Amino acid sequence: MTLKRLISFALIIMSLALWSCEKKGPDTSDKARLKGPRTTEKIRILTTIAPLYCFAKNIAGDTALVENLLPSGAGPHDFSLSPLDAKKVSEAHVLVINGVGLEAWLDKIIDSPGQRRADDGKLIVADTSIGIEIINKDPHIWLSLRNAIVQVRNIRDALIKADPLNRDIYSANTEAYIIRLNNLDREISDEIATWTKKEFVAYHSAFGYFARDYGLQQAAVIQEIPETEPSPRHIASVVETIKSKGIKSIFTETQALHKIITSLATDLGLKVYSLDTLEKGSPGREWYEERMRSNLAVLGEALK
Ligand SMILES: [Zn+2]
Repeated sequence: MTLKRLISFALIIMSLALWSCEKKGPDTSDKARLKGPRTTEKIRILTTIAPLYCFAKNIAGDTALVENLLPSGAGPHDFSLSPLDAKKVSEAHVLVINGVGLEAWLDKIIDSPGQRRADDGKLIVADTSIGIEIINKDPHIWLSLRNAIVQVRNIRDALIKADPLNRDIYSANTEAYIIRLNNLDREISDEIATWTKKEFVAYHSAFGYFARDYGLQQAAVIQEIPETEPSPRHIASVVETIKSKGIKSIFTETQALHKIITSLATDLGLKVYSLDTLEKGSPGREWYEERMRSNLAVLGEALK
């Protein structure tokens, strides 16, 4: 073999080697770049109560998996955590809670925001009450549109922290949802401004924040402590309030006609209406707005 042929043979071998290296190396073609960053699995968001599920679903859309911990028929005041529930918490990336002591049943498994998850990652606990002015330790913050907007922003921040790649989606969805909530707030405010009566009696003290937002007054509540029978002395003071303020209507909750409400209504000639505290339900994306509008209509019948 002449030197010239030897050199050209070597060149062929080298170019063949280079070609094969290129083939085995990273694919930098446009097609590969279009795939974007390696698509990881969707993050799992676990919410505690129905309104938070609805908020999270509106923020996440289909970008993350959203699940509610409480089954549709269970209320948060007397809930107790099963081993399956604890497993769900351990598998979540973000746990969205109401806060203000509503989820005391989570205390034994959640002791710090840096809770370790089953796969050794950190669980992000989003306490949606952060930044909300709490009145009398009342946990029913979601029944105020203005509080709900703060809760929605807190959920957005937690989702972005857990899944920064989808920051733009979460931010855009949040802004669109907040526009809807602000519109609803104005709609309720304009409507209530036309009502002549401002005082009402509720079954349990859920509507304090709602009343504050729109200049209504929760004059009395039947159940001082949720899911606890009121004392005869408390009922006597409620009767006194109803009589002294000339209140003509009383609000019960979620279709359940409580015995005390029935007897008070009969004794005092009150009309009974049913309000939804939004503590139970299996929401779709419009659920929160629909239920708030429905409560407005019920209140309006009594207070207009
Ligand atoms: Zn409640």
